[in-house]
Amino acid sequence: MDRDQKHDLPSRSGAEQTRNWINLVAGLTHSIGNEVRAIHDETSSMLDIIDKMPHPPEPLWEQTRFIQDINRVRLGFINFLEEFAECLKSGQGRRPIPQNLKEIPLDEFLPAIRDKVGRFECRNLDPDDPNHQVQLQLNKHLELPMVIQFDPPDQTTLRSGRIPVLEFVAYEFIKNALRNCSGKQALKIVVETRGEWVSILFINDLNIHEKLPPPGKPGLGCSQCRKIVPKVFHVGNSDFSDTFCEPCLRVQIDENLGRSWEPGHTSQGGKGLGLFVIRHFLETFYFGRTHCGVTQWKDHEVYFKITIPSDLAAAIGRHNARFDTRPTTPLTRPPR
Ligand SMILES: [Zn+2]
Repeated sequence: MDRDQKHDLPSRSGAEQTRNWINLVAGLTHSIGNEVRAIHDETSSMLDIIDKMPHPPEPLWEQTRFIQDINRVRLGFINFLEEFAECLKSGQGRRPIPQNLKEIPLDEFLPAIRDKVGRFECRNLDPDDPNHQVQLQLNKHLELPMVIQFDPPDQTTLRSGRIPVLEFVAYEFIKNALRNCSGKQALKIVVETRGEWVSILFINDLNIHEKLPPPGKPGLGCSQCRKIVPKVFHVGNSDFSDTFCEPCLRVQIDENLGRSWEPGHTSQGGKGLGLFVIRHFLETFYFGRTHCGVTQWKDHEVYFKITIPSDLAAAIGRHNARFDTRPTTPLTRPPR
Protein backbone atom coordinates (compact mmCIF):
# COMPACT_ATOMS: atom_id res chain seq x y z
CA MET A 1 0.00 0.00 0.00
CA ASP A 2 1.30 3.43 -0.85
CA ARG A 3 1.32 5.41 2.34
CA ASP A 4 2.95 8.39 0.72
CA GLN A 5 0.10 9.11 -1.59
CA LYS A 6 -1.20 12.64 -1.56
CA HIS A 7 -4.18 13.27 0.62
CA ASP A 8 -6.58 16.09 -0.03
CA LEU A 9 -5.97 18.56 2.73
CA PRO A 10 -9.16 19.83 4.25
CA SER A 11 -9.55 23.58 4.41
CA ARG A 12 -8.40 25.26 7.62
CA SER A 13 -11.86 25.45 9.11
CA GLY A 14 -12.51 21.83 8.03
CA ALA A 15 -9.31 20.68 9.75
CA GLU A 16 -10.25 22.60 12.85
CA GLN A 17 -13.69 21.05 12.88
CA THR A 18 -12.20 17.56 12.49
CA ARG A 19 -9.83 18.24 15.38
CA ASN A 20 -12.74 19.39 17.53
CA TRP A 21 -14.65 16.20 16.81
CA ILE A 22 -11.63 14.05 17.58
CA ASN A 23 -11.12 15.86 20.87
CA LEU A 24 -14.79 15.43 21.71
CA VAL A 25 -14.72 11.68 20.99
CA ALA A 26 -11.44 11.31 22.90
CA GLY A 27 -12.92 13.19 25.87
CA LEU A 28 -16.09 11.08 25.91
CA THR A 29 -14.13 7.85 25.63
CA HIS A 30 -11.89 8.94 28.45
CA SER A 31 -14.77 9.71 30.81
CA ILE A 32 -16.57 6.43 30.02
CA GLY A 33 -13.21 4.70 30.48
CA ASN A 34 -12.87 6.14 33.97
CA GLU A 35 -16.24 4.70 34.95
CA VAL A 36 -15.48 1.30 33.43
CA ARG A 37 -12.13 1.21 35.29
CA ALA A 38 -13.89 2.17 38.53
CA ILE A 39 -16.33 -0.75 38.14
CA HIS A 40 -13.38 -3.06 37.51
CA ASP A 41 -11.59 -1.90 40.67
CA GLU A 42 -14.73 -2.06 42.81
CA THR A 43 -15.69 -5.57 41.69
CA SER A 44 -12.11 -6.73 42.25
CA SER A 45 -12.15 -5.52 45.85
CA MET A 46 -15.64 -7.00 46.37
CA LEU A 47 -14.35 -10.37 45.17
CA ASP A 48 -11.42 -10.02 47.59
CA ILE A 49 -13.84 -9.35 50.47
CA ILE A 50 -16.08 -12.28 49.51
CA ASP A 51 -13.06 -14.59 49.26
CA LYS A 52 -12.04 -13.69 52.84
CA MET A 53 -15.49 -14.54 54.27
CA PRO A 54 -15.60 -17.75 56.33
CA HIS A 55 -18.67 -18.95 54.39
CA PRO A 56 -18.67 -17.02 51.10
CA PRO A 57 -22.15 -16.91 49.56
CA GLU A 58 -21.82 -18.59 46.18
CA PRO A 59 -24.52 -16.54 44.33
CA LEU A 60 -22.94 -13.26 45.43
CA TRP A 61 -19.53 -14.38 44.17
CA GLU A 62 -21.07 -15.53 40.86
CA GLN A 63 -22.96 -12.27 40.33
CA THR A 64 -19.96 -10.10 41.12
CA ARG A 65 -17.78 -12.16 38.83
CA PHE A 66 -20.41 -11.81 36.09
CA ILE A 67 -20.37 -8.00 36.38
CA GLN A 68 -16.60 -8.06 36.24
CA ASP A 69 -16.53 -10.29 33.17
CA ILE A 70 -18.94 -8.09 31.24
CA ASN A 71 -17.08 -5.01 32.31
CA ARG A 72 -13.73 -6.46 31.28
CA VAL A 73 -14.94 -6.87 27.71
CA ARG A 74 -16.08 -3.21 27.74
CA LEU A 75 -12.67 -2.27 29.08
CA GLY A 76 -11.00 -3.92 26.08
CA PHE A 77 -13.21 -1.90 23.75
CA ILE A 78 -12.56 1.36 25.65
CA ASN A 79 -8.80 0.76 25.52
CA PHE A 80 -9.11 0.28 21.79
CA LEU A 81 -11.16 3.48 21.34
CA GLU A 82 -8.66 5.50 23.35
CA GLU A 83 -5.91 4.17 21.12
CA PHE A 84 -7.99 5.04 18.07
CA ALA A 85 -8.50 8.63 19.25
CA GLU A 86 -4.78 9.03 19.96
CA CYS A 87 -3.92 7.79 16.48
CA LEU A 88 -6.50 10.07 14.84
CA LYS A 89 -4.82 13.03 16.51
CA SER A 90 -1.46 12.13 14.98
CA GLY A 91 -3.11 11.60 11.57
CA GLN A 92 -0.89 10.84 8.61
CA GLY A 93 2.05 12.93 9.76
CA ARG A 94 5.00 12.09 11.97
CA ARG A 95 3.90 9.68 14.65
CA PRO A 96 5.29 9.60 18.20
CA ILE A 97 6.50 6.16 19.30
CA PRO A 98 4.23 5.12 22.17
CA GLN A 99 5.85 4.40 25.52
CA ASN A 100 3.61 1.47 26.43
CA LEU A 101 4.73 -1.03 23.81
CA LYS A 102 5.26 -4.51 25.20
CA GLU A 103 6.62 -7.83 24.07
CA ILE A 104 3.53 -10.01 23.68
CA PRO A 105 3.86 -13.78 24.16
CA LEU A 106 1.21 -14.98 21.70
CA ASP A 107 1.25 -18.56 23.01
CA GLU A 108 -0.21 -17.29 26.31
CA PHE A 109 -2.07 -14.28 25.02
CA LEU A 110 -4.32 -16.02 22.46
CA PRO A 111 -5.60 -18.81 24.77
CA ALA A 112 -6.34 -16.18 27.45
CA ILE A 113 -8.46 -14.17 25.00
CA ARG A 114 -10.25 -17.32 23.88
CA ASP A 115 -11.12 -18.05 27.52
CA LYS A 116 -12.45 -14.55 27.92
CA VAL A 117 -14.65 -14.91 24.80
CA GLY A 118 -16.01 -18.20 26.10
CA ARG A 119 -16.77 -16.94 29.60
CA PHE A 120 -18.36 -13.70 28.48
CA GLU A 121 -20.27 -14.90 25.43
CA CYS A 122 -21.92 -17.84 27.18
CA ARG A 123 -23.13 -15.63 30.04
CA ASN A 124 -24.34 -13.03 27.58
CA LEU A 125 -26.81 -15.48 26.02
CA ASP A 126 -30.50 -14.78 26.32
CA PRO A 127 -32.04 -17.56 28.45
CA ASP A 128 -35.55 -16.64 27.22
CA ASP A 129 -34.64 -17.36 23.66
CA PRO A 130 -33.32 -20.93 23.60
CA ASN A 131 -33.74 -21.17 19.82
CA HIS A 132 -31.65 -18.17 19.01
CA GLN A 133 -29.04 -19.16 16.45
CA VAL A 134 -26.18 -17.40 18.23
CA GLN A 135 -27.10 -19.17 21.43
CA LEU A 136 -27.26 -22.57 19.74
CA GLN A 137 -23.95 -22.07 17.97
CA LEU A 138 -22.10 -20.71 20.96
CA ASN A 139 -23.40 -23.38 23.31
CA LYS A 140 -22.06 -25.93 20.87
CA HIS A 141 -18.69 -24.30 20.37
CA LEU A 142 -17.66 -22.79 23.66
CA GLU A 143 -15.82 -25.97 24.50
CA LEU A 144 -14.31 -26.27 21.02
CA PRO A 145 -10.60 -26.98 21.41
CA MET A 146 -8.26 -24.32 20.15
CA VAL A 147 -5.13 -25.30 18.26
CA ILE A 148 -2.35 -22.75 17.84
CA GLN A 149 0.43 -23.40 15.41
CA PHE A 150 3.53 -21.24 15.05
CA ASP A 151 5.55 -20.96 11.87
CA PRO A 152 8.49 -20.89 12.51
CA PRO A 153 7.77 -22.79 15.74
CA ASP A 154 10.22 -20.87 17.93
CA GLN A 155 8.81 -17.43 17.10
CA THR A 156 5.88 -17.16 19.48
CA THR A 157 6.06 -13.50 20.44
CA LEU A 158 5.41 -10.08 18.97
CA ARG A 159 8.60 -8.12 19.60
CA SER A 160 6.73 -4.96 20.53
CA GLY A 161 3.06 -4.25 20.18
CA ARG A 162 0.12 -2.68 21.90
CA ILE A 163 -1.81 -5.03 24.11
CA PRO A 164 -5.14 -3.07 24.09
CA VAL A 165 -5.27 -3.07 20.30
CA LEU A 166 -4.36 -6.70 19.91
CA GLU A 167 -6.75 -7.77 22.67
CA PHE A 168 -9.69 -6.13 20.96
CA VAL A 169 -8.69 -7.49 17.55
CA ALA A 170 -8.18 -11.06 18.80
CA TYR A 171 -11.43 -10.94 20.77
CA GLU A 172 -13.48 -9.90 17.73
CA PHE A 173 -11.83 -12.47 15.45
CA ILE A 174 -12.20 -15.38 17.89
CA LYS A 175 -15.82 -14.43 18.63
CA ASN A 176 -16.63 -14.38 14.91
CA ALA A 177 -14.82 -17.66 14.35
CA LEU A 178 -16.68 -19.40 17.19
CA ARG A 179 -20.05 -18.12 16.03
CA ASN A 180 -19.52 -19.44 12.54
CA CYS A 181 -17.87 -22.78 13.25
CA SER A 182 -19.68 -26.00 12.51
CA GLY A 183 -17.86 -27.53 15.41
CA LYS A 184 -16.61 -30.52 13.47
CA GLN A 185 -13.05 -29.41 13.96
CA ALA A 186 -11.03 -27.32 16.32
CA LEU A 187 -10.79 -23.57 16.21
CA LYS A 188 -7.44 -23.12 14.52
CA ILE A 189 -5.07 -20.21 14.86
CA VAL A 190 -1.94 -20.10 12.74
CA VAL A 191 0.77 -17.54 13.50
CA GLU A 192 3.25 -16.96 10.69
CA THR A 193 6.36 -14.81 11.07
CA ARG A 194 7.99 -13.51 7.87
CA GLY A 195 10.80 -11.04 8.41
CA GLU A 196 9.36 -7.98 10.08
CA TRP A 197 5.77 -9.11 9.71
CA VAL A 198 3.55 -11.37 11.77
CA SER A 199 0.32 -12.79 10.36
CA ILE A 200 -2.35 -14.32 12.56
CA LEU A 201 -4.88 -16.51 10.78
CA PHE A 202 -8.11 -17.41 12.52
CA ILE A 203 -9.47 -20.49 10.75
CA ASN A 204 -12.85 -22.06 11.22
CA ASP A 205 -14.97 -24.57 9.36
CA LEU A 206 -18.32 -23.27 8.18
CA ASN A 207 -21.60 -24.69 9.27
CA ILE A 208 -22.61 -26.26 5.92
CA HIS A 209 -25.67 -28.50 5.69
CA GLU A 210 -26.67 -30.59 2.71
CA LYS A 211 -30.20 -31.23 1.57
CA LEU A 212 -31.18 -34.31 -0.42
CA PRO A 213 -34.22 -34.54 -2.72
CA PRO A 214 -37.30 -36.40 -1.46
CA PRO A 215 -37.53 -40.09 -2.56
CA GLY A 216 -38.40 -40.47 -6.24
CA LYS A 217 -37.19 -37.00 -7.19
CA PRO A 218 -34.06 -36.74 -9.38
CA GLY A 219 -32.66 -33.68 -7.65
CA LEU A 220 -33.19 -30.22 -6.26
CA GLY A 221 -32.89 -26.80 -7.86
CA CYS A 222 -30.09 -24.38 -7.02
CA SER A 223 -31.56 -21.01 -6.11
CA GLN A 224 -28.77 -19.21 -7.93
CA CYS A 225 -28.16 -20.91 -11.28
CA ARG A 226 -31.49 -22.86 -11.27
CA LYS A 227 -29.76 -26.12 -12.29
CA ILE A 228 -31.18 -29.38 -10.93
CA VAL A 229 -28.46 -31.12 -8.91
CA PRO A 230 -28.34 -34.36 -6.84
CA LYS A 231 -28.00 -32.35 -3.61
CA VAL A 232 -27.97 -28.73 -2.52
CA PHE A 233 -26.24 -26.96 0.36
CA HIS A 234 -26.92 -24.12 2.74
CA VAL A 235 -24.88 -22.35 5.36
CA GLY A 236 -26.44 -22.64 8.78
CA ASN A 237 -26.31 -19.70 11.16
CA SER A 238 -25.83 -17.10 8.44
CA ASP A 239 -27.61 -14.30 6.65
CA PHE A 240 -28.65 -16.29 3.60
CA SER A 241 -31.10 -19.14 3.84
CA ASP A 242 -31.14 -20.13 0.13
CA THR A 243 -29.83 -23.48 -1.03
CA PHE A 244 -27.10 -23.74 -3.66
CA CYS A 245 -25.27 -26.20 -5.87
CA GLU A 246 -21.61 -26.59 -4.90
CA PRO A 247 -20.09 -24.04 -7.35
CA CYS A 248 -22.71 -21.43 -6.43
CA LEU A 249 -22.16 -22.12 -2.72
CA ARG A 250 -18.48 -21.31 -3.13
CA VAL A 251 -19.32 -18.01 -4.85
CA GLN A 252 -21.83 -17.15 -2.12
CA ILE A 253 -19.30 -17.83 0.62
CA ASP A 254 -16.65 -15.69 -1.07
CA GLU A 255 -19.15 -12.84 -1.47
CA ASN A 256 -20.34 -13.18 2.10
CA LEU A 257 -16.76 -13.11 3.40
CA GLY A 258 -16.07 -9.96 1.40
CA ARG A 259 -19.15 -8.30 2.88
CA SER A 260 -18.15 -9.12 6.45
CA TRP A 261 -15.79 -6.09 6.48
CA GLU A 262 -18.53 -3.64 5.55
CA PRO A 263 -19.84 -1.30 8.22
CA GLY A 264 -23.17 -2.50 9.54
CA HIS A 265 -22.64 -6.06 8.33
CA THR A 266 -23.59 -8.59 10.94
CA SER A 267 -24.06 -12.30 10.76
CA GLN A 268 -26.00 -12.58 14.01
CA GLY A 269 -27.56 -9.66 15.74
CA GLY A 270 -24.37 -7.74 16.58
CA LYS A 271 -23.86 -4.13 15.70
CA GLY A 272 -21.66 -5.03 12.75
CA LEU A 273 -18.87 -2.69 13.73
CA GLY A 274 -16.14 -5.05 14.86
CA LEU A 275 -14.45 -6.12 11.66
CA PHE A 276 -14.99 -2.79 9.91
CA VAL A 277 -13.36 -0.88 12.75
CA ILE A 278 -10.49 -3.37 12.97
CA ARG A 279 -9.70 -3.17 9.25
CA HIS A 280 -9.77 0.62 9.25
CA PHE A 281 -7.65 0.92 12.38
CA LEU A 282 -5.04 -1.66 11.39
CA GLU A 283 -4.62 -0.37 7.85
CA THR A 284 -4.54 3.32 8.74
CA PHE A 285 -2.62 3.40 12.00
CA TYR A 286 -1.00 0.05 12.67
CA PHE A 287 0.65 -0.41 9.25
CA GLY A 288 -1.28 -3.68 8.95
CA ARG A 289 -3.38 -5.61 6.45
CA THR A 290 -6.50 -7.72 6.73
CA HIS A 291 -7.62 -10.55 4.44
CA CYS A 292 -10.15 -13.29 4.41
CA GLY A 293 -11.03 -16.19 2.16
CA VAL A 294 -11.48 -19.91 1.77
CA THR A 295 -8.41 -21.86 2.84
CA GLN A 296 -9.68 -25.37 2.21
CA TRP A 297 -12.78 -25.95 0.18
CA LYS A 298 -13.00 -29.69 0.97
CA ASP A 299 -13.53 -29.03 4.69
CA HIS A 300 -15.32 -25.70 4.09
CA GLU A 301 -12.59 -23.93 6.01
CA VAL A 302 -12.40 -20.15 5.88
CA TYR A 303 -9.82 -17.81 7.35
CA PHE A 304 -9.63 -14.26 8.62
CA LYS A 305 -6.11 -12.94 8.67
CA ILE A 306 -4.36 -9.91 10.11
CA THR A 307 -0.80 -9.00 9.25
CA ILE A 308 0.94 -6.52 11.53
CA PRO A 309 4.52 -5.41 12.12
CA SER A 310 6.28 -7.59 14.66
CA ASP A 311 7.87 -4.44 16.06
CA LEU A 312 5.54 -1.43 16.12
CA ALA A 313 8.27 0.99 17.21
CA ALA A 314 10.37 0.02 14.16
CA ALA A 315 7.34 0.36 11.87
CA ILE A 316 6.61 3.85 13.19
CA GLY A 317 10.31 4.67 12.69
CA ARG A 318 10.04 3.59 9.02
CA HIS A 319 6.84 5.60 8.61
CA ASN A 320 8.48 8.72 10.06
CA ALA A 321 11.57 8.28 7.86
CA ARG A 322 9.37 8.13 4.74
CA PHE A 323 7.42 11.12 5.97
CA ASP A 324 10.61 13.14 6.52
CA THR A 325 12.06 12.40 3.06
CA ARG A 326 8.82 13.17 1.25
CA PRO A 327 9.43 15.85 -1.43
CA THR A 328 7.93 19.12 -0.31
CA THR A 329 5.52 20.80 -2.67
CA PRO A 330 5.03 24.55 -2.59
CA LEU A 331 1.85 25.55 -0.84
CA THR A 332 -0.72 26.94 -3.19
CA ARG A 333 -3.83 28.60 -2.00
CA PRO A 334 -7.02 27.40 -3.65
CA PRO A 335 -8.69 30.21 -5.61
CA ARG A 336 -11.50 31.83 -3.72
ZN1 LIG B 1 -25.94 -23.20 -8.75
